Amino acid sequence: ALAAEIAAWRGPARTSDGVAVQLLANVQDGAAARRASAGEAEGVGLFRTELCFLTARTEPSVDDQARIYGEVFAAFPGSKVVVRTLDAGSDKPVPFANHEHEENPALGVRGIRLGWTNAGIVERQLDAIAQAAEDTGATDPWVMAPMVATVDEAYEFAELCRARNLKPGIMVEIPAAALLADQFLAEVDFFSIGTNDLTQYAMAADRMSSRLATLTDPWQPAVLRLIQLAADAGGRAGKPVGVCGEAAADPLLACVLIGLGISSLSMAVTAIPTVGVQLGKVTLEQCREAAAQVASARNARDARELARRLLG
Ligand code: PEP
Ligand code: MG
Repeated sequence: ALAAEIAAWRGPARTSDGVAVQLLANVQDGAAARRASAGEAEGVGLFRTELCFLTARTEPSVDDQARIYGEVFAAFPGSKVVVRTLDAGSDKPVPFANHEHEENPALGVRGIRLGWTNAGIVERQLDAIAQAAEDTGATDPWVMAPMVATVDEAYEFAELCRARNLKPGIMVEIPAAALLADQFLAEVDFFSIGTNDLTQYAMAADRMSSRLATLTDPWQPAVLRLIQLAADAGGRAGKPVGVCGEAAADPLLACVLIGLGISSLSMAVTAIPTVGVQLGKVTLEQCREAAAQVASARNARDARELARRLLG
């Protein structure tokens, strides 16, 4: 019966008491964006641009980049599209950007830090995104930087975006950004929480290691507390806070995230109906109650169990 319900589900998503929840797609190119648009995604919450260039030995020109990004904008005319600047490095090295061997690449020059070793690379990508938006008539392009650790980085990134009429945001995936959430949000227009890396860095557990799966678990109460800090800051600032890590695709955790004050969830397009069905079974108040209890759980297992009891 649940499978039939999921197959028949159509967006936009609402809780049982009618609160809208924006469900967006994670994409890596124009083809994926078109599939997302044919499915139930309301827009793109995470365009992982580094995945376009995993074999590129030289940096694509601004024109070539603009053509690639434009395909994603064109798949969602008039809808929200959040482009992430290159998150090259660590698990996703890009030949033209990551040249140095690093002992600990997850803690190395990756994400926004690429600008330190590749002069102008962030600026050229922002030029390309702005050009793509103009070419495709995208009126409200959102752009976010990955792996932001300091308020100064957020400030500098926001300046570069605003100079190109791009709406600036950052990913919250380093605990420092959650801990200083109010200060970061004073600089940018939105947050998107990357629970994969936020969990990795909060728990000091490599997300690539299957042996550490009990630690790389977004139900870890410490991770939920960090998410809560970011969401609360969003509420105070009146700025949107979304989640784009794997946690967003877990139907029960999705409810908890909404209860914590998250306003959009971005995931593989195939996961959207499952999450949409679950959201339709609970009220916002139930989500809030579950969120409060789960964030005070003693461990990830108890957190899951509590959520199952309150929301399942
Ligand atoms: C994350 O870290 O949760 C995230 C969405 O980014 P990525 O998985 O691409 O590192
Ligand atoms: Mg990440």
